[in-house]
Order: sequence, then C-alpha cells, then structure tokens
Amino acid sequence: MNKQGANGIEWCDFTWNPTAGCLHGCTWEMPDGNVTQCYAKTVAERVAGKVYPAGFEHHYWHPARLEEPLKVKKPGKIFVGSMADVFGHWVPAEQIAAVLDTMRRADWHTFLTLSKNPLRIPEFNPFPANVWTGVSLPAGHRMSAGGAAKALRVYLRYLFQVDAPVRFMSIEPLWFDAAPVFYNWLKEHDKLPFEWVIIGAASNGRTVYQPDAAWVYGLLELFGDAGIPVFFKGNLRGNPAAGVWREEFPVVLGKAAKS
Ligand code: SF4
Repeated sequence: MNKQGANGIEWCDFTWNPTAGCLHGCTWEMPDGNVTQCYAKTVAERVAGKVYPAGFEHHYWHPARLEEPLKVKKPGKIFVGSMADVFGHWVPAEQIAAVLDTMRRADWHTFLTLSKNPLRIPEFNPFPANVWTGVSLPAGHRMSAGGAAKALRVYLRYLFQVDAPVRFMSIEPLWFDAAPVFYNWLKEHDKLPFEWVIIGAASNGRTVYQPDAAWVYGLLELFGDAGIPVFFKGNLRGNPAAGVWREEFPVVLGKAAKS
C-alpha cells in the first residue's frame, strides 16, 4: 500500500493495488484541442520495465498484496485500484471476490473503489459496510462529450442498482457539462443514485486544464439542493469556483467518514 502524503490523493490515506493495469485507454480532449491521457498510465510507463513489464494496458494480479491492509492497524481510507479498474471486464470474478474478502476482514478501514465499468458492480451486491463504491465520469479513447453524456446516463442506471453504504461519483476530470444529465435523471427519479461527489480538473503533467467555472457552479447548485456532499480535488484551486471551496465527506451512520 502507498501512504498518501501532501502531494498525494487528498481524499484517501492509502492507495492499494492488488490488481494493476487497465484496458480502458482513457483520453480526454481538452477545450484547446490538447489530448490528455490517464495519469496512472503515465506513472506506470515511468516504471514500466520493473513493475509493468507488459505495459499499463495489461492485467496484473498481485495476490501477495492481499494481506497488506490487515497489517495497518490505524483505521484509514484506502483507495482500491488507483492503478487499475478492479471491476474491469477483464478481471476474473474470483480475484474481485478475494479483494472483497480482504475488505471484509479489515473492517476497521474504509475502502473506496472506483470504476469505469459500472455494469459489473451490482454483480457483487451487497457490499460490506466499510466499502464505498464509486464510478468515474465516462472517458475512453477519443470519446466525444456527447458520447460521454450518453454513457453517463447508463452509468447512473447501474449505480442505482448498487447496494453499498456509500455510492459516489468521481467527476474528475470535469471535461464536459455533466449537470444536464443529472437534472434529467432527477426528472424521472426522486433522488440521485449516489451519496458523495468528487470534482477535479484535468491535468497533463504539470499543466492543469480548468473546467468552465459555470459547469462547476452548476454542479454545486444541483448537489447543494440534493444534499450531496462535494469534495474538490486540489487541482481545482486555479478555478474561479475555488472561492466556494468544498472538502466534504458523507456522514456514515456508526462510522466516522473522515479518518
Ligand atoms: S479507467 Fe482509470 S486507470 Fe483505467 S485508463 Fe481510465 S483513468 Fe486510467
């Protein structure tokens, strides 16, 4: 497991990658035409020879890492699969079951999973009481904003079916105006199918591409009305919407949501 320091992922204490590598091939086309690629792929390619001998777009299984969370006694928030998609269509079900088994056994921690393959998540219902399941805003190889909005509607349908104490959306990077999709969902349903949201900008190395502030304000208004807590990633600091900074977590009954 990797402890997250000052420059790490702000919303977790550790990352844990019992599976690694990812076949989704996400890229994002920025408003200026620049195309950014997945940060995990960039990191993996830096250490490719040693840790990712077959490249990042490959599935790696590390059963020796399964016991790692059990060795950390202080309760923490553990992001599962920062260098992978644990629910990727290529991951054998028995490996996912083994990862879930560790989460169940290490019940003093809170585990957060994040996927771009939400159709597979309900297969593992019900999730343990200490597991938060998330999906990221859709992205794929040169996916258009229209295509992503369409995919997001599908993602919401699957997230709705997930039985977990906290479901969340990682809207990072916010690369198209996603609010209309959520408003349309609300026209047909009483509430949104998630209890927490992370919003962030896109980055390419040290270059940060800020989303349109109006998109951020639109989401804040929507989630404010819906009572959904919002967490801003640090890379939003250069955005005009940073004036209304948010670092909120969901309140989970019987457990402190913030470690
Ligand atoms: S799903 Fe995540 S890890 Fe996989 S390519 Fe996309 S951004 Fe990278």
